[in-house]
Amino acid sequence: MKVVKFGGSSLSDASQLKKVLDIVKSDDTRQIIVVSAPGKRNKDDIKVTDALIKYYRNYINHQETTENQKWIIERYKNIIDDLKLPQTLLEEIKLNIANLSSLPIEQNDYLYDSFLSEGENSNAKIIAEFFKRNGLDASYVHPKEAGLIVSSEPSNARILPSSYDKIENLATRDEILVIPGFFGVTKDDQICTFSRGGSDITGAILAAGIKAESYENFTDVDGIFAAHPGIIKNPESISELTYREMRELAYAGFSVLHDEALIPAYRGKIPLVIKNTNNPSHPGTRIVLERENNQSPVVGISGDKGFVSINISKYLMNREIGFGKKLLQILEDLNISWEHMPTGIDDLSIVLRERELTPIKEQEIITRLTRELEVDTVSIEHHLSIIMIVGENMKNHIGVTAKATQSLSNHNINLSMISQGSSEVSVLFVIKTQEEKKAIKALYQTFFNKH
Ligand code: ASP
Repeated sequence: MKVVKFGGSSLSDASQLKKVLDIVKSDDTRQIIVVSAPGKRNKDDIKVTDALIKYYRNYINHQETTENQKWIIERYKNIIDDLKLPQTLLEEIKLNIANLSSLPIEQNDYLYDSFLSEGENSNAKIIAEFFKRNGLDASYVHPKEAGLIVSSEPSNARILPSSYDKIENLATRDEILVIPGFFGVTKDDQICTFSRGGSDITGAILAAGIKAESYENFTDVDGIFAAHPGIIKNPESISELTYREMRELAYAGFSVLHDEALIPAYRGKIPLVIKNTNNPSHPGTRIVLERENNQSPVVGISGDKGFVSINISKYLMNREIGFGKKLLQILEDLNISWEHMPTGIDDLSIVLRERELTPIKEQEIITRLTRELEVDTVSIEHHLSIIMIVGENMKNHIGVTAKATQSLSNHNINLSMISQGSSEVSVLFVIKTQEEKKAIKALYQTFFNKH
């Protein structure tokens, strides 16, 4: 049995839904279907979820919501009419969308989540009906009925471990189950969503819960590319990746999938396959626990901007017991999360995301480091990027880092820092953001020999 999730762009209109029907029909193990809300039909369009946010905002500010409701209902009406589905279904959806504006505003922590969930909920009903009328034995299943009981954290729900027992029962059902993604219900019966993009999480939880043969995640690209297609023209698509490699790539800029979605699938040892609704015969990218080490050492190159480095030096730092602890205590006191800490003998840098700092926090760090730790120098460097070369197989190859640094130096790119964890899944370089694209191109040319 496979769990299959379709993203918003795969469900944006009737023609996309016909592709989805064909995909589900072509493999009778595709039995649990998780759906997003309708996404954009073109680049200027609005996702239904975003339209629901506008509707919510107007409602809580006591502004007119008729236009908001009309726009959302029209989206579903177009789909229902184009697929020749019954008007009673449209009436039901109309009512549900309109009823959102009679929910209590005061003392209702779940109001926002109730609005947003209606995007996937209505879509799941339409898709189940469409499947039924086209020869599939399909049923719509509400997340509550599916057993998706979540923590009481509005817009940031987490699945309760006890849910898995009930979810497992879904495996005993024979028909195709169409389940809205993105939300569950709390123990007190409140609708509570995962974070944005969270339909991926629903799919991963269900796949782990029923111990699916695989979790197929259908989107609008041919899987995961070896480098960002906005930087490298027609990059190679990766056929197989391990979860660890995916995690490393996702860390620095690869965002095909919600990163939290990897957790249940990883723990449940479920292979995850990223596929393209618009090109379903393409094998896509398979993400597995382990893979044969017969691939090239580097599977992907990622890059992300928005990093800052706090550079500290102090003569004889290496002999001072507790220096690191005191330094990290300062960051903890300021509620700052850090990412990397490359060190020298008498110097040390802390690399963190720019969003963790404010001018006031920066000043506080400098003051406390100077006063409490008596450092010789401290400076904060902005506009940095992280570039990562990723591949589990690097550990079996000598000279990968040498090749990468040679390539960067040939292109005149200065490396501020290099870091490699002991597992050797990735090598990380810190460079100036203005050189990020150039660096990714240089490394792609070196390891994939393309451009
Ligand atoms: N519709 C939700 C969002 O746009 C969830 C999802 O599509 O995964 O965030």
